[in-house]
Amino acid sequence: MLDPRVFWQLSYGIYIVTTRAAGRCNGQIANTVFQVIAQPPTVGISLNRENLTHELVRQSGVFAVSVVSEAADMPFIGTFGFKCGRTTDKFAKIQTVVGELGMPIVTTNATGYLEAKVTHTLDVGTHTLFIGEVVAAAALPCAEQPMTYAFYHDVRKGKTPKNATTFLGTMGAAAGGGKYRCRVCGYEYDAALGDPAHAVPAGTAWADIPAGWVCPTCGVGKSEFSEVR
Ligand code: FE
Repeated sequence: MLDPRVFWQLSYGIYIVTTRAAGRCNGQIANTVFQVIAQPPTVGISLNRENLTHELVRQSGVFAVSVVSEAADMPFIGTFGFKCGRTTDKFAKIQTVVGELGMPIVTTNATGYLEAKVTHTLDVGTHTLFIGEVVAAAALPCAEQPMTYAFYHDVRKGKTPKNATTFLGTMGAAAGGGKYRCRVCGYEYDAALGDPAHAVPAGTAWADIPAGWVCPTCGVGKSEFSEVR
């Protein structure tokens, strides 16, 4: 017996892990970020081996973590959570600072950040656990609280992409209603609501959405959607 609901009882935050190697920068959303020991201050992160950020952290041996605030909306999270840095400039519309280790660090929608040097790596199959000693950290002036994973799901209605540490397939997914769900990020198109922010009025049937419309969260086309049954 393996009840997936117990995994959903585990608490996490929402973070943006960034790094820079050989002149390339990338960043991604991660929920698995945690302090390992106090002295020296050390944190761990778990990154999917398929992700560009994983490749670059392995090369550079350094990473930064920005703590995402509750002010972050889904398009912001989607840029770092559901798009690939190989094809998207994730840093185009956001503020960053260059940290002490030379990495871009996201400060938009962040309550603070830290920079770490990798001291240990552990191959855990689909992911690698990078352990890093924190060499710099700064709290940012921010009125919002750090976003928890529960807030992301319950308030932002965020989904868990397939490369996440916590992906549990389609177990527990909502069903029915003639809706269409993005297979990449989990965004659901509901004809009753439309997508007015992108010129699709409420009441527009799926078949009537222009072919050029893309997922408002992750940017893939209609072919990446499946009907919710
Ligand atoms: Fe999507």
